[in-house]
Amino acid sequence: MKVDISEIKRSLGAHLNYIYEDTLEIEEVLIKKPVYINLKLTNAGSRILVEGIIKFNAEFICSSCGEKYDYLIEAKVNEEFLEESNLELINFKNDLSLKDLSIFTYSDNLIDLYEIIRQNIIIALPLKPLCRLDCLGLCLSCGKNLNQGQCGCKNEFINPVMDKAFKKMKIRKEKKNA
Ligand SMILES: [Zn+2]
Ligand SMILES: [Zn+2]
Repeated sequence: MKVDISEIKRSLGAHLNYIYEDTLEIEEVLIKKPVYINLKLTNAGSRILVEGIIKFNAEFICSSCGEKYDYLIEAKVNEEFLEESNLELINFKNDLSLKDLSIFTYSDNLIDLYEIIRQNIIIALPLKPLCRLDCLGLCLSCGKNLNQGQCGCKNEFINPVMDKAFKKMKIRKEKKNA
């Protein structure tokens, strides 16, 4: 995923497009092939701007019912690269308070896009994946996936909010009895 930017380095405002449609493996998520990446690299003087989108289908496990499901993720990319020899960057590096700031760099007119692609994918992933917004989850008594129908248990906890409230009630009850 390395791009030679010698051409656009010659004139301010010059740009080139990077298009990638192929498999991509990253540790954090199971991406279904192919991933679609369309990025525009622009010479903005001291920086190279990288903007565009990353689109892919990935497999998730629902946090409510535990079923696998596929979902289309669209990540917007908006990053900047500084040349490694750039004075601005050298100042950044000397400043301890900015040490942890993640700045993307390049050298020899070669920009490696892999790391920004990986980071932008991770940011776009759902924190609490749900197979659907109204996923009914599992019955707490028998474990049946309630999206597939009712189970017949007496205490069905359909709504996760109600479920939490019920658990609290139950704990209080148990404490009383103890
Ligand atoms: Zn679910
Ligand atoms: Zn049940």
